[in-house]
Order: sequence, then C-alpha cells, then structure tokens
Amino acid sequence: MSKIKVFIPCDDANHVCDKTQYKEATLWEKIKLNIHLIYCRACREYTKNNTKLTKAIKKSEVECLDKKCKETMKLDFEKALKEHSN
Ligand SMILES: [Zn+2]
Repeated sequence: MSKIKVFIPCDDANHVCDKTQYKEATLWEKIKLNIHLIYCRACREYTKNNTKLTKAIKKSEVECLDKKCKETMKLDFEKALKEHSN
C-alpha cells in the first residue's frame, strides 16, 4: 500500500486553508488540514484569522455591492493582513 501523506507542512496547511475559504479544497485536503490543526498551534491561529476575515468580507458584500465599497473593503483586508503578519 502506498504511503498516504497525512502530516502536511505548515505551508500546505495554510494553502488548503486559503482554498477552503473559496470552497476549492477537496474533502481529503480538509481532513489533512484538520489533522494538522490538531497539533499545530500556529496554523490554528492562521485558520482562525483567515476565517474571521472571510466572514467579514462576506458580511460586507451582502451589505454593499457597489464597486467603490468593494475597493475600500479590499484595502481594509490588506491592512488587516499586514497587521496580522506583524
Ligand atoms: Zn502548521
């Protein structure tokens, strides 16, 4: 039986996390991410922040759909990301 990669590096976990936000991750990828999150605190934090930002964006999209508003939102998102990486 071929080796199944269950333990993935943090980079992969973060990538799957990003894909999950856009509903592009497969079930198996999500399982691997969840296994990773059990033992990796750093990625748990990353996922938590990522989910929070996505929720904030979704909420804003419902509230304002015009283009200018979306631009502002994008800037806010980038600012939040910068603050998070500091
Ligand atoms: Zn990790």
